[in-house]
Amino acid sequence: AFMSASTTPVVKKGYDVEEIRAQFPILKELVHGKPLVYFDNAATSQKPRRVIKAESAYYATINANVHRGVHTLSTKATEAQEAARETIRKHINAEHAHEVIFTSGTTASLNLAAFSLGQLLLKKGDEVLISGMEHHANIVPWQMACERHGAKLKVIPITDSGEWDLKQVPFSEKTRILAISHVSNTLGTINPIKELIAEAKKRSIITVVDGAQAIAHLDIDVQDLGCDLYAFSGHKAYGPTGTGVLYGREELLERMPPWQGGGEMIDVVTFEKTTYAKLPFKFEAGTPHIAGIIGLGEAFRWMEDYGKSAMAAHEHTLLEHATKELLAIDGLRIIGTAKEKVGVISFVIDGVHHYDLGTLLDQQGIAVRTGHHCTQPLMERFGVSGTTRASFACFNTVDEVEVMVAATRKAVKMLR
Ligand code: PLP
Repeated sequence: AFMSASTTPVVKKGYDVEEIRAQFPILKELVHGKPLVYFDNAATSQKPRRVIKAESAYYATINANVHRGVHTLSTKATEAQEAARETIRKHINAEHAHEVIFTSGTTASLNLAAFSLGQLLLKKGDEVLISGMEHHANIVPWQMACERHGAKLKVIPITDSGEWDLKQVPFSEKTRILAISHVSNTLGTINPIKELIAEAKKRSIITVVDGAQAIAHLDIDVQDLGCDLYAFSGHKAYGPTGTGVLYGREELLERMPPWQGGGEMIDVVTFEKTTYAKLPFKFEAGTPHIAGIIGLGEAFRWMEDYGKSAMAAHEHTLLEHATKELLAIDGLRIIGTAKEKVGVISFVIDGVHHYDLGTLLDQQGIAVRTGHHCTQPLMERFGVSGTTRASFACFNTVDEVEVMVAATRKAVKMLR
């Protein structure tokens, strides 16, 4: 009923989206009596049954604290958690499993990085370089570190298409840290991080990558990228909420001071002095989200079974189709028209507030994100107060794109 006039693209053979969809229990839910169309994957992706099962199996069969007891359950829980660490090590091609630090998410990973690198590296007058498309999670922790140490925040400008202006990267002899996103959550832009990291390395600058929006869509090889630190969240990559990773190069992690103090992260504690545990535990104070970490490992094994490049190719088909169909709507403008994009599409429509559009789409069962997407400086750069954002995952379909486009057309008629 929602088919539009234009031609529907042919999805690549061998990719069975219906088989994938069958693994996501939530896709059977109705919203306002309509089938759920979930296009808010950049905020958090849905979870396949295998991940949900892995998490609940931990609670049902091996629940115990890790690394503490000699008892059987504790050993089993520890083994399951460390198996997840090894899965992630392989997945991002880190050299050592102890270079994979578990956190509660990208935000925690970046706060750890900014606090610890600030202590290690920043002096008065030094500079931290970020880009104009960063999420607040990759702005504010650096601002706080700069304030603590008397350093300055510098920003790579953004072009009209939503890419870094590589001719205007404000490197200086004072730059100590480069902190950049691999993929923009608002624009979908895939940034040329390898090139910029190479430039930074020539200048002995430490490099930190916010991989929150890359991890579910791109094959990540931290050694090939050459970055010092790489942060991501589990929940944006089909894993549980409350999980995340900070990858760090061993030699740098050894030099970095811990961020949080407490149990698990120590070697010897006296009231006079504490010595710290070895990697990765130096950075993992307190009881971790064991169930979540086990689920995270399962999510990565699940992604590997399908292959991220096959998923990304499918998502790209959806992006191209949505782009073409949405642009046919009168007064609609896409924010973020970079050549290299993941399946994220942000748009504004003349005379239509994004919040009203989001509300009307929800009435049709369609979940999109509206607002500034935690990128206020980027909104300012494009002169908009917010956008409507659709972000695709491996389980979305061309039919769902058609449903969204038709509902958007209908909403525009009502709102204008
Ligand atoms: N960085 C980017 C690019 C993001 O898109 C997000 C989440 O939207 C974050 C950081 C923060 O991630 P989390 O909320 O999982 O800590």
